[in-house]
Amino acid sequence: MQQFTAKVVSCTEDKKGWAVVLDRTAFYPEGGGQPRDHGIISWGESSVKVTDVREKGDVIIHYTDGEIPADINISGTIDWDRRFDFMQQHTGEHMFSGVVMSLFGYSNVGFHLSERENVVDFDGPLTKEEIKMIMDRCNEFVWANQPVYTGFPENVKELEYRSKKELQGDIRIVRAGTADICACCGTHTATTAQAGPIVAINSQAYKGGTRITIACGKRAVEYLKTRNDDCYNISHQLSVPVENITTAVTSRLDEIGQLKFALANAKRQLMAVWADNAQPVDGVCVMVKDDLQSNEIRSFAALLAQKSDTAVVLSPQPNGSGKICIVSTVYDTNRLGRHISATLGGKGGGKPGTYQGNTDKSADEETIINIIKSFS
Ligand SMILES: [Zn+2]
Repeated sequence: MQQFTAKVVSCTEDKKGWAVVLDRTAFYPEGGGQPRDHGIISWGESSVKVTDVREKGDVIIHYTDGEIPADINISGTIDWDRRFDFMQQHTGEHMFSGVVMSLFGYSNVGFHLSERENVVDFDGPLTKEEIKMIMDRCNEFVWANQPVYTGFPENVKELEYRSKKELQGDIRIVRAGTADICACCGTHTATTAQAGPIVAINSQAYKGGTRITIACGKRAVEYLKTRNDDCYNISHQLSVPVENITTAVTSRLDEIGQLKFALANAKRQLMAVWADNAQPVDGVCVMVKDDLQSNEIRSFAALLAQKSDTAVVLSPQPNGSGKICIVSTVYDTNRLGRHISATLGGKGGGKPGTYQGNTDKSADEETIINIIKSFS
């Protein structure tokens, strides 16, 4: 039911807006793991938005963003896109839980449904392959196009149905075709077909069991569309057919690993040559070399310190700042570091004898030698 008419019983102002009670309603209040409905209540030329729906005792309260005159007849309209999405997610969750129960005997012990997520917790471990099997079985129930029954059967005491807790009083039974039978107060699609397709999009070990994120109906299609775009984007970027993207990514990552290793080796050799050719002036050796990483300037400065009392390495970075390392047996390196920062900006620190940090701007070797000369 997407639209209905009713009579206003009361409308009072409270903290959450206007609290409206109707003599009957199709708005679903929050409960059973399913979020509340949104929608509109209208009369004549006027209308108000329904922002929240709650059940208090036997009364359903609609919270609205405006006042409605008491005793008038209104027309209620459910935000159907939102509600139908919840119906698809909820019915799909029933089918998924029923299939897990029948194939593996695990219970649904937690359910969280929102505009973004449909998450179900089961009390047993499930492998990726087992989850694919469950998905296949669920979609077979979708294609079987079986009716979804909701009601209060007289033989409820003899029925075996899923329920998270012991129930008293009238028990509403939901049969999702032959996939599942469960006690539930939520809203569901009319057939198993309307809830499909059903896709498990993620799973993780959780409290000794398995937490599975599913997507049903339109949500499943939207999810698959987005993932398909992702796959084709990767395929274009790597210039390989979409079927081969996993192998292509693996081999690119291997390649990157080998290149990183070769680059680190080449840099080590280059730094050894630089160090061999270094000409210390009064025991101080200063080198400015582009684009070195923090660990690289540290080992380069240590190498230079083998042939001088004080080694200073500054590496200008692409953003205009610099990385700096000072190794010295004669100077207080922290004080010298701060002295250089007074001119070049930035900060750093370290153990006695070694200073490492950043500078806001870079400088050439002559400038740095002059800064050190002015240090006392
Ligand atoms: Zn349900």
